[in-house]
Amino acid sequence: MQYVRCIKCDNRAIYYRAYSGEKLCNSCFCSSIIEKVKRTIAKYDLLKYGDAIGVAVSGGKDSLTLLRILNELSKPHASKIFAITIDEGIYGYREEAIDICKNFTEELNIPHHIFSFEELFGFSLDDVIKIRKSKFSACSVCGILRRRALDIAAKELKVDAIATAHNLDDFLQTFMINLLNGDIDRIKWLNPLIKPRSEFVVRRVKPLMEIYEKEIALYAFLKNTQFQTVTCPYMNESIRSEIRLMMNSLEDEHPGIKYSALNSAIKLSQSLMTDERELKACKTCNFPSSSDFCSVCKILEMVKRNMYI
Ligand code: SF4
Ligand code: ZN
Repeated sequence: MQYVRCIKCDNRAIYYRAYSGEKLCNSCFCSSIIEKVKRTIAKYDLLKYGDAIGVAVSGGKDSLTLLRILNELSKPHASKIFAITIDEGIYGYREEAIDICKNFTEELNIPHHIFSFEELFGFSLDDVIKIRKSKFSACSVCGILRRRALDIAAKELKVDAIATAHNLDDFLQTFMINLLNGDIDRIKWLNPLIKPRSEFVVRRVKPLMEIYEKEIALYAFLKNTQFQTVTCPYMNESIRSEIRLMMNSLEDEHPGIKYSALNSAIKLSQSLMTDERELKACKTCNFPSSSDFCSVCKILEMVKRNMYI
């Protein structure tokens, strides 16, 4: 029977990459993903020889794929890999994710460390949501506390960098949301490399940010990766979903447009990064902060007073 051939090795192609015109077989597609990650790491100088790397793993396809790829790339670069899972305390959701992460890290023989909000801050995200009265979304509280939890994990495990699994689609959606909200200040945090801002914070890197989400999903599928498919009960997807649909339809009509948009967004975030204000140490916890008290301490104080608004 006639079939479409891979442009690299002549085997049967399983994927058509519209933006480059490549038809690829299973093996050449997987190699191309690894090569793309390597190029992103080199292009933005994300990781160095011998780095100890903490990989944030949530149990989803992106983070497990990132862990698999960095683990594969770590050996020739003498890097040490740690998997870090943050347990926010979301009943009925995070337990399954933790089991998936445990099984996956055992399979790859990677040390796995779990840091919970309950242990670090004295309450779970579910607790905060119960007493929260309005205004902030669960995700904004969760994001602030999770970034701090990762900083604490990085310090405890003495890693040089924390790698997170944001893909190209995540990046563009967040960029557009910030743009539409007029939240220009947040755009700078979309940089592929966030350098340490004090002794407490290590490099934050995003090695998957030049890879389309659908290609990560295909890679995870081809590698038979078991990942969590249920979404967080607090997730409010409305505007993100609309932007996803819009970007996907633009990409269908103009293959590669997402990649061009990514490059513009990165340039903008890099230019904003040079404007960074001087940070001080939070008067309560000593972590870097733009004001006298950091966002984490403000949340902790409000939770303590049971009046988070
Ligand atoms: Fe946290 Fe929001 Fe993600 Fe749920 S969806 S884990 S609340 S950031
Ligand atoms: Zn603080």
